Amino acid sequence: MHTPFEVKVPVRAQSRLRPLIGATRYAELEQTGSRARAVLGGITVWNVSSTADGGGVAEMLHVLVGYILNAGVDVRWVVLSGDEEFFRITKRIHNRLHGFSGDDGELGPAEAAHYRGIAEQNAEGLSKSVHAGDVVLLHDPQSLGLAEAVSEIGAIVVWRSHIGTALSNRWTEDAWTFLRPHLGACRAFVFSRESYAPSWLPAERVTTIHPSIDPFSPKNQGLADPEVRSILTTVGVLAGPDVAQLSSNGKPRRRRVTRRAAIVADGPPLDPETPVVIQVSRWDRLKDMQGVMEGFAEHGILRNEAHLVLAGPAVAGVTDDPEGAEVLEECVAAWESLPIGARRRVRLVALPMVNVRENAVMVNALQRHASVIVQKSLAEGFGLTVAEGMWKAKAVVASAVGGIIDQIAPDTGILLEDPTDLDAYGRVLAWLLERPGTIADLGARARQRVLEDFVGDKHLIAYAKLIERLVIPGLAPAGVLGSADTAAPPD
Ligand code: UDP
Repeated sequence: MHTPFEVKVPVRAQSRLRPLIGATRYAELEQTGSRARAVLGGITVWNVSSTADGGGVAEMLHVLVGYILNAGVDVRWVVLSGDEEFFRITKRIHNRLHGFSGDDGELGPAEAAHYRGIAEQNAEGLSKSVHAGDVVLLHDPQSLGLAEAVSEIGAIVVWRSHIGTALSNRWTEDAWTFLRPHLGACRAFVFSRESYAPSWLPAERVTTIHPSIDPFSPKNQGLADPEVRSILTTVGVLAGPDVAQLSSNGKPRRRRVTRRAAIVADGPPLDPETPVVIQVSRWDRLKDMQGVMEGFAEHGILRNEAHLVLAGPAVAGVTDDPEGAEVLEECVAAWESLPIGARRRVRLVALPMVNVRENAVMVNALQRHASVIVQKSLAEGFGLTVAEGMWKAKAVVASAVGGIIDQIAPDTGILLEDPTDLDAYGRVLAWLLERPGTIADLGARARQRVLEDFVGDKHLIAYAKLIERLVIPGLAPAGVLGSADTAAPPD
């Protein structure tokens, strides 16, 4: 029996945002909070996702749920459970919603039955706690299967897709054909970009909400240089004395990182003065870690001393991302076949996931240590790692795909028009690494860009507005979709 489990998130003080976002934005956030309390009354807002850690959705829920609790709204987060086959199917849907085949598997009746079966089991568990009138946000394709059962309880169901692409091809069609019967029970749909919504979804039910980062989370909070070095020494990326980790005022504090990463490298840990290019991602083919490595090895390193660090989560057990171990293995094989000189300049780092906060601090330190951050994804729903790097005032070189386009405005980073053009990517990297002034300018503007548009207050306000519309009678289209909207798509 697969039942969901609850993730308990500590309350996060919204007041910490005030000095950053200023009085006007903060006042709007506060007003939104009091309106939400009044409108929601005894209603609970539920979030259902497929993992409590790893990936952008979990990253954001840890933050948003904490801030919403602080506003006095009853919000909860549950994670569904599934078996390997379920996550293989949902990963296939994930890849296809991005326009890629993923594995060669089917999305036919057998897969639909398996998906539905797991969803029904999870829905049964959830239905013990969800009440009529509650709002249930189902995140991504993994949880969409619960829509019908949850809506039958009388809850208002919203599907929040964090993935998608503007393009339409046989793979996207395949994914939408699979998902479409489940969309009928949803009252509203949220996408990270308007263009991700299929044209047959009624526009009045579709909302666009940009994701955000939290400047105070372990992933993004300030770390002084000595602490960054100390953390990365413990992790095994940098050479150095294993000194106590220091707080920002220079005093020793309890070590926040104690574990080492599993590192594939040819050579000792790096000298802290060595320029480093970093991509942090899940081990997912669409993040193209291998392309990042090959482009760097063939072009990026020719004229400078930089090293490349590809970091991702340690891969283990049944997760919502069954391809992780396979992709890491492929990367290791590709690394082994690099010429020796290039191999010495590239290391693969699998960060322990035993403790999510510790993992976040490791990512934070890596991003802060980087001279340049890369996100050379082939497709990307939003790409939180881009905002994370920009917030740390880093020059980010990233593909002009999906939500990355919304983040990197002119002069706030470098967009790669064709992410498969490894030559162009390598040349840009080599060019940039020789220009510390440009790196600093891009980084400063990048941080400002994130402060203006991708800090949590805007995100919270957007959700509050949507939920308000759904809960107050007459403000949003009533009922769920008609059968014409959910029938099999036209040829
Ligand atoms: N991440 C992490 N540990 C890792 C690798 C990635 O915490 O070892 C985080 C990363 O910092 C970011 C999120 O996972 O916050 C990835 O979100 P993004 O939107 O970039 O991509 P997704 O994984 O959702 O496709």
